[in-house]
Amino acid sequence: MADLILLNANVMTMDPLHPKADGVDIKNGKILSVTTNDDLEKWKRKKTITIDCKGKTVLPGFIDAHCHLYALAESHVTLNLEPHHNVRSISDIQTKIKASSQQLPSGTWIRGRGYNEFYLAEKRHPNRWDLDQVTSAHPIKLTHRTGHAHVLNSLALQIVGISNETPDPLDGLIDRDVKTGEPTGLLYRMGDFLSRKIPPLENHQLDRGMKVANDELLSMGITSIQDASSHNAIEQWKMFRRWKDTGFLKPRVAMMLGTESFSAYRKQDFEIQTDKSQLRLGGVKIILDETTGHLRPAQAELSETVLGIHQSGFQACLHAVEEKAVEAACSAIEYALRKFPKPDHRHRIEHCSVCSPSLAKKLAALGIMVVTQPSFIYYSGDRYLRTVPAEELKHLYPIRTLLKSGVKVAASSDCPIAPANPMTGIYAAASRMTETGEEVLSEEKITPEEALRMYGETAARTTFDEGIKGSISPGKLGDLVVLNGDPTKDPINELKDMRVEMTILDGQIVWEGR
Ligand SMILES: [Zn+2]
Repeated sequence: MADLILLNANVMTMDPLHPKADGVDIKNGKILSVTTNDDLEKWKRKKTITIDCKGKTVLPGFIDAHCHLYALAESHVTLNLEPHHNVRSISDIQTKIKASSQQLPSGTWIRGRGYNEFYLAEKRHPNRWDLDQVTSAHPIKLTHRTGHAHVLNSLALQIVGISNETPDPLDGLIDRDVKTGEPTGLLYRMGDFLSRKIPPLENHQLDRGMKVANDELLSMGITSIQDASSHNAIEQWKMFRRWKDTGFLKPRVAMMLGTESFSAYRKQDFEIQTDKSQLRLGGVKIILDETTGHLRPAQAELSETVLGIHQSGFQACLHAVEEKAVEAACSAIEYALRKFPKPDHRHRIEHCSVCSPSLAKKLAALGIMVVTQPSFIYYSGDRYLRTVPAEELKHLYPIRTLLKSGVKVAASSDCPIAPANPMTGIYAAASRMTETGEEVLSEEKITPEEALRMYGETAARTTFDEGIKGSISPGKLGDLVVLNGDPTKDPINELKDMRVEMTILDGQIVWEGR
């Protein structure tokens, strides 16, 4: 009576009670049984789709616990300026913009993203004058690979109203020429400001980008995703809803709210119809910013914000990169827990890039979860080795230390900041290798199985979903991937090239490798 049966598989259930099986059968989108080939044969009926896995590995669908779907969709319909796309100098950026400007009518915005000054020959950010050389007829907005800095040309600066006289905003920074005081076009932490001034992409453009992104996510075996964008509000919710309803976005989505929209939500300025398994709210995202040298928000304000989130029964998701920020996040959660103790709160720190063993112990004691990005070691490790101060480098993405201290660590890609492929993350967590083959803290290696768990059960825990996902167990959602290798047996250096051959979501085959 099964709808779908997978036979002759190396099923790694990730369920410690029954770690292995020959196959799985699924009915109405849920896993019925995880058992032997003989048992599964019994459930075959005329309409049952049967897949012979020929010994291939079957795993729970991957969960990406932190990404940015709008930016991901946008990335497929804007200029890609990542180093991997042959952008190695400012003149490469100019060439791409030039080509685009020749196709677009004057006045149309040109948008590019993903440039990385570390990999540019000039070793600096582009500025307004570099961009002005290409066109003065089109406003240009370039987004840094982190999403936290932008470069505008002179026309764009004029449109958004930034001149020599404009003061720095409270939580951002307008970079200026040291001699003349003139804005250079580089803006730090002003994304929200810019999104209010620059017209968004049109729906049909974003939809086109989302369709490409959706194919990409499914081809990597990602069946659930959490959107961690700090500006998320009702507009983003509506967009995700539309993408869900049209089928442009297949993976299950949990959307975090920004702090502002969270207040609006609590005041019931808007209502949200959640549909638990497909689209739902996640926690509340707070950015702890250190770009200006001072922590923003300041500790007292941060603690009160976290307390408010905690009291309302939501999870606080604190973006903290440097150790000072991680400490501040920790203190804020500690403050909330002291006022209103709650054992299973699952407040989380996003990134937690620098964390000493003593701080890791503190996180564990407070029950704080960490959402890390192992593939940053692969994609950015070469830069870390050259630019991160030695004191911080020795505690960089210390995944082994965190796990050993008892912290629950989930993995994510932060895409489009890094490509979404979980296999790259699993490889990086198990090898600590950079793209060029250098090692970043070999003592922080974890096993491939531990890494798989970070994209499975632990990632499910970050949204209280471990009862329905993260392992292949009867009653759980029918989200599975078929891999062309065995991550726990094959050599570690083969992990990054391992491919997903099939992705099953809700018991449906949503992607098949070619
Ligand atoms: Zn992020």
